[in-house]
Amino acid sequence: MSAARKPAPRRAKRGSARVWLVGAGPGDPELLTLKAARVLAAADVVVHDRLVAPEILARIPRRARRIYAGKQRDRHAMKQVEINRLLARLARQGRRVVRLKGGDPFVFGRGGEEALALARAGIACEVIPGITAATGVAAAAGIPLTHRALAQACVLVTGSRRKGAPDLDWKGLARPGQTIVVYMGLAGLERVARELIAHGLPPRTPAAIIQQGTMPAQRVVEGPLAALPRRAAAARLRAPTLILIGGVLRLRRLLTARRG
Ligand code: SAH
Repeated sequence: MSAARKPAPRRAKRGSARVWLVGAGPGDPELLTLKAARVLAAADVVVHDRLVAPEILARIPRRARRIYAGKQRDRHAMKQVEINRLLARLARQGRRVVRLKGGDPFVFGRGGEEALALARAGIACEVIPGITAATGVAAAAGIPLTHRALAQACVLVTGSRRKGAPDLDWKGLARPGQTIVVYMGLAGLERVARELIAHGLPPRTPAAIIQQGTMPAQRVVEGPLAALPRRAAAARLRAPTLILIGGVLRLRRLLTARRG
C-alpha cells in the first residue's frame, strides 16, 4: 500500500477487533446464506478470493473497500502470510473486516490457517459457513453424496499435491461403499484414477467431473473411472472442477431424466 493511501489512524477498542470469515457458496449467488448476506452488507472492508461470484461481490456496499486476494493455481495475488497480516491490521484499525471465500471457509479454503493466525494475533474471528462445492455441485448435478446401499460414507479429498505433503490414503479411499469427492483435482485426475484402480477400486466405478457446478455454464463429463481422464481431456475442461467417484453416480441418470 502506498504511503499516500494509508488509512486514517483508526483504532479498534481494546478487544473488539474482529474478522468475519464468510463462505460465499459454490457459485450460484442464491446459495449465499442470509447470515453471510447480512454481514457482507455491514462490511467496511472485504478481502475476497477469485471463486466468489460477481453477483455476490455486487452486494458489497459502495462505501466499503474491496481487496482481491487471489488464488489461482500457481498464481497467487497475495501470499497467505500477507493475507493473514492484512486481516489483522485492518481489524486492529477498527474496521469491520469480511474475509469472503468460495464455498465453505473451513473446507480446503485455508480458512483454518487464517483463523489460527487471527487467534494468535488476539483478534476475534467469527466463521459463517457456506455451501461447500461437494454439496452444492452434487445437488446441481443430481448426485446424492450418500445413499442407502450405495454409499455409507463420503470423503472429501484434495487432488492438489504439495511438495513434502503426505500422499492420500489410497487404500482407504479405494474401499467400497463410499463416495469420493476430489477438490482441485483436474490436473491430477490421471494420477487419482490410476492410484485408486491400483489400490483396488474397480476400473468401471462410475465417476464424473463437473466444471463450474451450480452455475449456468455447468458442464458434466461422466464415465467409468478408467476412462474419465481421457474424456475430461477431450472435453477441455477448465477450473473450477470437482470430481465425484462412486456407485451414487448411477443415480444421476434417474434423477436428471426430466431435466435432460
Ligand atoms: N472452500 C471451497 C473450496 C476451495 S478449493 C469450498 O468449500 O467449496 C477450490 C476447489 O473447489 C476447486 O479447485 C474445485 O475443485 C472446487 N470448486 C469450488 N467451486 C466449484 C464449482 N462451482 N464447480 C466445481 N468445483 C468447484
